[in-house]
Amino acid sequence: MKLENDPLAAFWMPFTANRAFKATPRQLKSAKDMHYTSDDGRQILDGTAGLWAVNAGHCRAPIVEAIQKTASELDYAPPFQLGHPLAFELASRLATLMPEGLDRIFFTNSGSESVDTALKIALAYQRAIGQGTRTRLIGRERGYNGVGFGGISVGGIVNNRRQFGTLLTGVDHLPHTHNMEHNAFTMGRPEWGGHLADNLEAIVALHGAETIAAVIVEPMAGSTGVLVPPVGYLEKLREITRKHGIVLIFDEVITAFGRVGGATASGTLGVTPDIITMAKGLTNAAVPMGAVAVSRHIHDGVVEGGPDGIELFHGYTYSGHPLAAAAGLATLDLYKSEGIFEHATSLHSYWQDAVHSLKGKRNIIDIRNMGIVAGIELAPHSAGVGKRGMQLFHKCFDNGLLVRATGDIIALSPPLILEKAHIDEMIGRIAELVETID
Ligand code: PMP
Repeated sequence: MKLENDPLAAFWMPFTANRAFKATPRQLKSAKDMHYTSDDGRQILDGTAGLWAVNAGHCRAPIVEAIQKTASELDYAPPFQLGHPLAFELASRLATLMPEGLDRIFFTNSGSESVDTALKIALAYQRAIGQGTRTRLIGRERGYNGVGFGGISVGGIVNNRRQFGTLLTGVDHLPHTHNMEHNAFTMGRPEWGGHLADNLEAIVALHGAETIAAVIVEPMAGSTGVLVPPVGYLEKLREITRKHGIVLIFDEVITAFGRVGGATASGTLGVTPDIITMAKGLTNAAVPMGAVAVSRHIHDGVVEGGPDGIELFHGYTYSGHPLAAAAGLATLDLYKSEGIFEHATSLHSYWQDAVHSLKGKRNIIDIRNMGIVAGIELAPHSAGVGKRGMQLFHKCFDNGLLVRATGDIIALSPPLILEKAHIDEMIGRIAELVETID
């Protein structure tokens, strides 16, 4: 087959519209610690840890070496009736980082797969314990739970759903928790909004608890613009789900591994769900990998109670892949040996003050923060939603700073090895550049 004479044509890029990309193709060539190097040789301060993922900083030697060593020793092991020591070791290590009781680990290759796996486990569990009528799933508006059919069904993003037909049936959505009127410019967790969890009671009243299998929410929604959980909200969800026998899943693909404090947001906030989904920071994004931590009673329920002798017929060719497991172990070692979560936590208040210093700058209508995350919301341009966000993204990149624009919200989530000087640089640059866009 003859290709058109365009080296950028064949790669159908995820999410990005190829046409827009080709207008000003920006490519990354290498990375080290807090920085990327662009293909034109410029240093770009990484304000997004890649995509909420490179928490220990880029191309860290111990992770690189672990991957190289394993690649030369055991490239792959099939998952049927066989295992390999690295996957077992990583699962055990990961279990020790999870909240009490969530000590059974299922490996996947991405956040999307973790979400679909978690939903399947919840359904299999309900069935295994004789609650087979519980098939409904509850997600949340403005939830991002990946792009599998399960994830987009429970997720609450119109663009992710509207091309793809009926999706899963029997799905309801809780309202999201962001409210400009009550919560604009709140530092940290808003006081207003805990009561929004009561909407779950309304859904239960509508359908009957005996029809509902699971609720899935992100403790802090990242991809839809940093929605910080109101005080008491997650606690209330926990209370209601427990009361009605509903499995509670926290999608921690972004929040796990130090992003909001400790190893999980659940642990940091003191609310323990039944299942936690993870990915990204698990391997510092060096090799794709996700994981699902499952509470012992759910695991045992599925394994012991499967009605037809099946434990959980689900998995991936690459579940627990040796290279990913090696990268995961080296990453967890690094988080621990360098005290990366503690280091980041020691910067929380400096970070909060810095990001909120942007209040009053042109077009900024809200600022939200949690852990080492910030969402800076710009008023939409009359020419369309997302235009201002994209303009600022381009300006920042061209001036040596990578940010993420999600609509008109600029999301920041730098590697957790950052220092105060990086925060100053990031915020200083945004302060200056936000004044220069239309
Ligand atoms: N869940 C959440 C909360 C996410 O933020 C993401 C990705 N940003 C996903 C799931 C999907 O992860 P992946 O892109 O690795 O499939």
